Amino acid sequence: MTEFSEKILLPFIINLHRIDVYEEHGGYQALRKAVKMKPENVTDEVKKSNLKGRGGGCFPTGLKWTFMPKDSIKPKYLCANGDEGEPGTFKDRQIFELNPHLFIEGCLIAAYAMGVQTIYVYIRGEYTKWINLLQKAIDDAYARNYIGKNILGTNFSAEMYIFKGAGAYICGEESSLMNSIEGDRGYPRVKPPFPAQNGLWGCPTTINNIETLSNVPLIINRGWEWYSKIGAPRHPGTLLFGISGHVNKPGVYELPTGVLLTDLIYKYAGGVSGNKKIKAVIPGGSSTMWLRGEEIESVRMDADSLKAIGTSIGTGGVIIMDEDTDVLKVLARITHFYHHESCGQCTPCREGCGWMEKILKRFLAGEGTMKDIDLLLSVANNIEGNTVCALGDAAAWPVQSVIKKFREEFEKRVRESPIEKKYVAPPHLVTD
Ligand code: SF4
Repeated sequence: MTEFSEKILLPFIINLHRIDVYEEHGGYQALRKAVKMKPENVTDEVKKSNLKGRGGGCFPTGLKWTFMPKDSIKPKYLCANGDEGEPGTFKDRQIFELNPHLFIEGCLIAAYAMGVQTIYVYIRGEYTKWINLLQKAIDDAYARNYIGKNILGTNFSAEMYIFKGAGAYICGEESSLMNSIEGDRGYPRVKPPFPAQNGLWGCPTTINNIETLSNVPLIINRGWEWYSKIGAPRHPGTLLFGISGHVNKPGVYELPTGVLLTDLIYKYAGGVSGNKKIKAVIPGGSSTMWLRGEEIESVRMDADSLKAIGTSIGTGGVIIMDEDTDVLKVLARITHFYHHESCGQCTPCREGCGWMEKILKRFLAGEGTMKDIDLLLSVANNIEGNTVCALGDAAAWPVQSVIKKFREEFEKRVRESPIEKKYVAPPHLVTD
């Protein structure tokens, strides 16, 4: 891994959000370059750069673009996913605020490469400030013919619209995002068919994350070789790490993939508040598996390194919990979130999330039993992999990992509970 300290997504340039300042610093040159290339060569550059999706799935972006049919007579769509509903994740709004034209330029290059005529930017409705900022940037780009008909005097035309979400976490899932844009309830669709074959209004559609698309102009401008050498080789580039919880300087830090988690916490985020020890870390947003404080030494923040220790990079939303944190309380809060946000379409998620929340509440009330620990794990295991969309897994993984890593916290609660000795689980709750 090479040392890399440049900020490429959020450089320190005053007023970069203004189109004239963006142009002064080379803005829209990548689009000018791309429209002179063959669309397939643009996709090839992105493929060779090894850019991976920044929305949690880490899917190779260039490869995803190749799934769009070339000869379809139907309209094609690009949806930029700015729903950003995962607790602990607050990075995309920094792009809307500080460098919106980089994102717009990335959308246009992606649209050119895939033959897309219409781009929707799906943003959570609560982001009023960022919606307004992005709309101003889109209007400015229209005024300079970067968006619209015959862009830069070519045959390439594309329209761009913001679609405001109505506050449902599930609409960050790509198929419910499309249902939401179509005006339907935000229910995830059963896949296959995948969006590239049957997406918005039954037409070919690609969904990419905001940060993912913002990397594209940099790859086109400076070449795939340059990009692929930043950070971890199999997951290159910089990431916008959003760090929150018990740190002195929470915020968004742009750093190369593969940065040490301890550097992120102590060098950039100012260390743990009150110089306390770290009890737990959630490395990539609330759905990712937890790490114990003793485990984080020498952990690197990239997809492969985190996978190797049983968790994932997710959206790069790092949550730090100090030694005084009640992990069961945090887990109950996270589980409540997933229970509340479950769309209710499939039974394991709809019922299972509620059962997990109920059991966790029993522990918080001092009414949990030793059998409840395994019952909770059994419910989580039966949700994982058995649902229509990934929300079920997102709810199960934190529960599984907290039981695995902090089982003693559950047991301590039970031992300290006067109810343990007299509580007998009803037959339908006994698992063995
Ligand atoms: Fe809905 Fe949950 Fe099933 Fe996803 S997993 S479709 S959110 S009920």
